[in-house]
Amino acid sequence: MRFASIGSGSEGNGLLVEAGATRVLIDCGFGARDAATRVRRLGVDPDTIAAILVTHEHADHAGGVAAFSAKHQIPVWATFGTLHVMGERFAALDVFGFDSHDTFTVGDLCVQPFPVPHDAREPVQFVIGDGAHRVGVLTDIGNTTPYVEQTLSGCDALVLECNHDPGMLAGSDYPFPLKQRIAGRYGHLDNDGAATLLGAIDRSRLQHVIAAHLSRQNNTPEKARAALAAALDCAPEWIGVADQASGFDWRSL
Ligand SMILES: [Zn+2]
Ligand SMILES: [Zn+2]
Repeated sequence: MRFASIGSGSEGNGLLVEAGATRVLIDCGFGARDAATRVRRLGVDPDTIAAILVTHEHADHAGGVAAFSAKHQIPVWATFGTLHVMGERFAALDVFGFDSHDTFTVGDLCVQPFPVPHDAREPVQFVIGDGAHRVGVLTDIGNTTPYVEQTLSGCDALVLECNHDPGMLAGSDYPFPLKQRIAGRYGHLDNDGAATLLGAIDRSRLQHVIAAHLSRQNNTPEKARAALAAALDCAPEWIGVADQASGFDWRSL
């Protein structure tokens, strides 16, 4: 099993996860041509993607889904709430709705969605497994919950939101309502929140931790790495960072 990012941040997200003959793309926040270029950069032919799994309707996750799905004939999976919001934009696609608590399979991959507090209609994140290993993905969450901690416990790899440094956000020139939204309970997880989450879960199987969805203005890779490394008691260099331009390269389990 392996996974890689085609880009991560407020301007677009996409994560490839692969096991056996199956590969899926979680979110597509890039235009169809840009997404295809990014996918090919990781050695993948877009036509071979078995499904696009959508976490929620925000443009940095769902903005490119319809065009990429249509161009490469890829089925789309999304919660009923997300499908409701996307409405006509997904109408012509091969779409599967799912309940945010129900596990389903796509080829060789087992997909476990779980609900998260975020300001979207029915947002989820995913734990994806192949029977031997589990990759947990958590971005776009305002605050963690006991259920989220339970779901991410025992994962072999985590892609974890480190959206902002609280001090940098507070001191930034963002309008006050935007600061409130980002730092709020339905906004985004900051470095300290991500570190606290890491400290609360079963980390015994962890082989990879990647900080993701970093704010360009209100965070730095160094600050995100330092926060997560402190929680794990590891060297900062061990923590991966997904960036907006190039995501991160394949990680294997
Ligand atoms: Zn986002
Ligand atoms: Zn979002």
